[in-house]
Amino acid sequence: MANILATASPHIKAKVIENAWNFFVDYLLDESKPAITKAEILKDLLHLKPHIKELRLIIKTDGKETNQVFNLKYNRNEYPELYIWRKEVLKRDNYTCKRCGKAKNIEAHHIERWVDAPEKRFDVANGISLCEKCHKLIHSKGIEF
Ligand SMILES: [Zn+2]
Ligand SMILES: [Zn+2]
Repeated sequence: MANILATASPHIKAKVIENAWNFFVDYLLDESKPAITKAEILKDLLHLKPHIKELRLIIKTDGKETNQVFNLKYNRNEYPELYIWRKEVLKRDNYTCKRCGKAKNIEAHHIERWVDAPEKRFDVANGISLCEKCHKLIHSKGIEF
């Protein structure tokens, strides 16, 4: 997409962006689509319209209208899926560090890294609970748990 846009006339460029935007919005509204792909879509939306920080959609189901807000800031901590993933990992591990057993300042760590395993970003089995100290150790020194 970036290559096409770089050489296109402003008119074509605007049209391509608008079409892609509409496609992505439709995708976000489709309940059958996986959360992981939606997270990727949110990133793409940000690239298309960098000035837009938030996407508010009105979803109609059985005549009822509900508001859904998607945050488009490129910050992986703001993905709703990540928030859910973190909660599930901590709950499974009983809010206890799996390395030292402490139960204070517990964080969820990705066993296979975010960048290396995009398909496992929201997979609870790819998460482990660690206290802040052990988490820092693992990231800075590559210590295994
Ligand atoms: Zn981590
Ligand atoms: Zn610990």
